[in-house]
Amino acid sequence: MDYLPIFIDLRSRPTLVVGGGAVAARKIELLLGAGAAVRVVAPQIGAQVRALAAAGRIEHVARSFEPASLDGVALVVAATNREAVNAAVAAAARARNVPVNVVDDARLSTFIVPAIVDRSPVVVAIGTSGTSPTLARWVRARIEALLPARLGRVAELAGRWRRRVARAFATGAARRRFWEGVLDGRAAAYALDGRDDLADFELRRALKREQALAPRATGSVALVGAGPGDPDLLTLRAARELELADVVLYDRLVSLEVLARARRDAERIFVGKESGLHHVAQEDTNALMVRLAREGRRVVRLKGGDPFVFGRGGEELEALARHGIAYSIVPGITAALGAAAAAGIPLTHREHAHAVTFVTGHVREDEADLDWAALAREQQTAVFYMGVANLGAIVARLAAHGAPPSRPIAIIEKATHPEQRVIVATLSTIVDSAAAARVTSPALLVVGDVVSVRARLARGGGARHAQIRAKTTEARSA
Ligand code: SAH
Repeated sequence: MDYLPIFIDLRSRPTLVVGGGAVAARKIELLLGAGAAVRVVAPQIGAQVRALAAAGRIEHVARSFEPASLDGVALVVAATNREAVNAAVAAAARARNVPVNVVDDARLSTFIVPAIVDRSPVVVAIGTSGTSPTLARWVRARIEALLPARLGRVAELAGRWRRRVARAFATGAARRRFWEGVLDGRAAAYALDGRDDLADFELRRALKREQALAPRATGSVALVGAGPGDPDLLTLRAARELELADVVLYDRLVSLEVLARARRDAERIFVGKESGLHHVAQEDTNALMVRLAREGRRVVRLKGGDPFVFGRGGEELEALARHGIAYSIVPGITAALGAAAAAGIPLTHREHAHAVTFVTGHVREDEADLDWAALAREQQTAVFYMGVANLGAIVARLAAHGAPPSRPIAIIEKATHPEQRVIVATLSTIVDSAAAARVTSPALLVVGDVVSVRARLARGGGARHAQIRAKTTEARSA
């Protein structure tokens, strides 16, 4: 390699061009393109250079070159058609250690100007060490065809994010791998498309994902509420955790649509307990979470509804805490809230209910577990989770503790799922209605006068409620 290719910052630096013809004009344009302050020394100048001077873009000194013209100059180009003048410029410049280029004369020059492919800020410089400017142009044509027109946008994207990315990675290798991924990915594709905002968005996302995965040595568990089933009812944070997870542990209540929000290559492990027969014991799930986190994986423990509402979330967190595993909790929309909204049953109401109670319908034989008298009182709503199997016993106990047979009750099956069904009845008729409709789990019981509001909402019209009414009737007559 006879020449060292380098990129020089000439912004606002004084540069000198000796000569005022068409060749000089080309070199002047090049220097101006790099932001240089250009002075032209020439007794006479052609039309192009004159125009530049008239426009105030260059300074023209109308006299012959003399060594003093080099005072304070960062770089000089000799572009006259007189060999003697060019040689004098070269000699004077060498004497002062000012870099000099004599156009088309590599021998006299201390630097030569490459052929350029300009995708600023990406610039490709092509040199043939002065042997063949034509070959340099030939190479340039090929590279021009190779590089996308908006390559510069990709470089600008990288420039905007360079420091943030550098901060995010501990090693240069990790950082390089990240950038390689970016260049082959959507961020770069958007930049090439001229859509900088989307490019930034994608890069931010990639970086977040990378950062989240970075603490390899110490895994973590996020206890995430999956909501009642409709994926639109996921929280933004839950969706984000799913996108970041290496492993997702889920159970029966989690809908397929929600599970589909996990990263495509994330491992999915079913840890559901079918009611009655325990497929995976709680202790096994706890041990699995601990083991996966210890392996450095980012675990999402995905639970139907909210993890802290009849979800054993507390127990699982205790296990994690005992083993020193980092965890976080992402709340979800619990089934009662999802079902109430989807069925058009307000849980509290100024006329009908001043309180709402969420209770487990997993009632014990001895009645000692719940305050049935309180649940049977007026002016409040009781929502039973896991209550379908015990429907008869629940209704009997409410009645025994003073709830009138006319008290409205709704069963909401598979709330917020496409197959949602709502069965409306009273305490005296619900057991038969449920049997006729063959209600299955998961379903909620909502007991209280608020259930009657639903009919009023349905009468009020609105496509959504008309739909609810249709389903109700269908369930009743089933
Ligand atoms: N942590 C969950 C509840 C788990 S207990 C939550 O916050 O929602 C399981 C019970 O929740 C089921 O027996 C059923 O009563 C209720 N449930 C969960 N999802 C439901 C749904 N989509 N529709 C109706 N009931 C549901």
